[in-house]
Amino acid sequence: MRWAAKQKKVVARIKWLTLGALVAAAIGYMYWDTEINPGSAQHTSSSGSGLEKTLIMGTDPGFKPFEYKNGQNVVGFDVDLVREIAKDTNRSLQIEEISFDGLLPALQAGRIDLIAAGMTVTPERAKNAAFSTTYYSAAQRVVVPKTGSTVESVDDLKGKRIGVQLGTTGDTLAHKITGASVVQLPATSNVMQELNARRIDAAIMDNGPATQYLATNPNLTMLARDLTKEDYAIAIKKGNTELLKQVNDSIKAMKKDGRYDALVKKHFGAAAP
Ligand code: GLN
Repeated sequence: MRWAAKQKKVVARIKWLTLGALVAAAIGYMYWDTEINPGSAQHTSSSGSGLEKTLIMGTDPGFKPFEYKNGQNVVGFDVDLVREIAKDTNRSLQIEEISFDGLLPALQAGRIDLIAAGMTVTPERAKNAAFSTTYYSAAQRVVVPKTGSTVESVDDLKGKRIGVQLGTTGDTLAHKITGASVVQLPATSNVMQELNARRIDAAIMDNGPATQYLATNPNLTMLARDLTKEDYAIAIKKGNTELLKQVNDSIKAMKKDGRYDALVKKHFGAAAP
């Protein structure tokens, strides 16, 4: 009898010890998951828990003033814009540098949460990604050497060697020009080099970076006409409706409370187009 009672007590104690160990393990795992292994934290959907989450932005920093390198850091309009979105959604910002043509595949593969790269919304891209409300109006422009160029108007582009950055809207546009041979290069800076070396006759690129390049390339100039009118937006993985809504809410708030205008002033020194 006495022995049986003792045995019961021991069993009860073991039960409590087991329970205690399980609780400790669970708390330990939760701590590891959010603090030591933050990569997993960004995918937890428990919003408002106060836990630090990460927002991974993919961009190609050769597109001043939207994204470019300042020493080791990636800076620019898009970076500041997404930094505000991260703040508004209680996340820390992580930037992944990816060449422009690799951005949408990286988004689809889940390597990044969003793309902010002066990316134009196009029907083709919208098949594979969701786009936020647009945040900037841009245009394609033709850049040519200042002297001795045979390209004086858009019509003169026929049959010419045209340099573009691979996978951009400039690339798509150049392919529509009759008889043109399109030279696709990994970065806009490469396009400018080729133009300066006169290995191409003209470049087609976005007006923002074109203006920036002309400021430091006195031998180049830009044709007056806009070839397109296009709008930049942030790309988000299709189906990630929660993040899409958060991004749209944040952009809306920024446009209302003056943060958006302040960013335009900081990076363009003028009012938004
Ligand atoms: N706006 C252009 C596009 O979306 C170019 C963007 C870029 O080179 N970063 O294709």
